[in-house]
Amino acid sequence: MIPLAVPDLTGNEKKYLDNCIDTTFVSSVGEYVTRFEKMVAEATGSRDAVATSAGTTGLHTALHGAGVKYGELVILPAFTFIASANAVRHCGADPWLMDVKESTWCLSPELVAAEIGEHCEKRGDGLYYRESGKRVAALMPVYTLGNIPDMAAFRAVADEYGLPLIVDAACAIGATYNGRPFGSLADLSVLSFNGNKTITCGGGGAVVGNCEEQISLERHLTTTARVWPDYDFDMVGFNYRMTNLQAAVGCAQLERLSEFVAAKRRVRQYYEMELGELTEAGITFFPATEGSSCWFSGIVLPEGETLKTAKTVCSCLKEDGIEARTFWKPVHLQKPYKNCPKSDVSASEGLWQRIITLPCSTSISEEELTRVAAGVKKAVRWGLGKG
Ligand SMILES: *Cc1c(COP(=O)(O)O)cnc(C)c1O
Repeated sequence: MIPLAVPDLTGNEKKYLDNCIDTTFVSSVGEYVTRFEKMVAEATGSRDAVATSAGTTGLHTALHGAGVKYGELVILPAFTFIASANAVRHCGADPWLMDVKESTWCLSPELVAAEIGEHCEKRGDGLYYRESGKRVAALMPVYTLGNIPDMAAFRAVADEYGLPLIVDAACAIGATYNGRPFGSLADLSVLSFNGNKTITCGGGGAVVGNCEEQISLERHLTTTARVWPDYDFDMVGFNYRMTNLQAAVGCAQLERLSEFVAAKRRVRQYYEMELGELTEAGITFFPATEGSSCWFSGIVLPEGETLKTAKTVCSCLKEDGIEARTFWKPVHLQKPYKNCPKSDVSASEGLWQRIITLPCSTSISEEELTRVAAGVKKAVRWGLGKG
């Protein structure tokens, strides 16, 4: 079976892990954690980074540190992985879901501005959703697939309404915006190093930013808010730190970041070239903004097609030894989030059922890519015929 996305651990991973065990530094204190944070800060072009146990825990502390509290709202795209919404709920807040743009699969800044204009009022202590009286506590776009939306527009909205700008950059390591890494675009950006991301620690995350004060708070919160050297704690903190074992793997992975991102971009380009003839049948490809890190690649079925067709295509591919999957079901269609406030989300609803992710490991071979392309042509013809 050609897998959807598997990590390449053939660099220094084993050597660094051996070193953790030999030195007994397996927990969250250790040289690899410090080294990993430096490498993440450099790779994202930010002043500092705090390594966390996961992307989700990074998002939770980022929102908590930015002041998101019980009963408040955080603006979020409806089309995202559920972890973005879960992090909001972990703060006791609710997502306010808004639609994405077809051209980027990212939240639309124009829509955010329009929705705020229509539903909110500014009061002395912040921005309020008029209908429910809830405070809007943060704005959280997502860099879907490693695509970076118009961040100047988001910055303008955030500044106008005094909203913290937190980005879910979980799948965006390696992406650039106007030729530069994204670490300084938002107040805080959060990455994930889960097993299916471009760079993995097995599991893990990081919060990056430029404001020393905010990053110090993040470091404090993720390490149980302990005031050393005794057992003193000045806040309710979290045990969200990354371990030295995770960071050891992460350091070895980051040494190969540019190679991995180049491979991801090549895979996307290959499918677009090789499957170009399918555009006649209404098939399109995953969007990529300038500088996108192209985390996942795949195809989008013609408008009007449903999840059923996508699944048919996936099972046809499976028979040919090719792993392919459907993609994120929007947040407002998930049981825990059915009653969240939301804008018109028709773009998200029309899009998600038609998406098919194709094998895109950084280590995928030419021969495997050729097999996938042939399999996709066959499966699409078959699947669309059935639909
Ligand atoms: C992977 C991912 C997350 C979650 O990260 P974990 O490390 O798995 O907790 C959150 N948001 C998006 C957009 C992701 O792709």
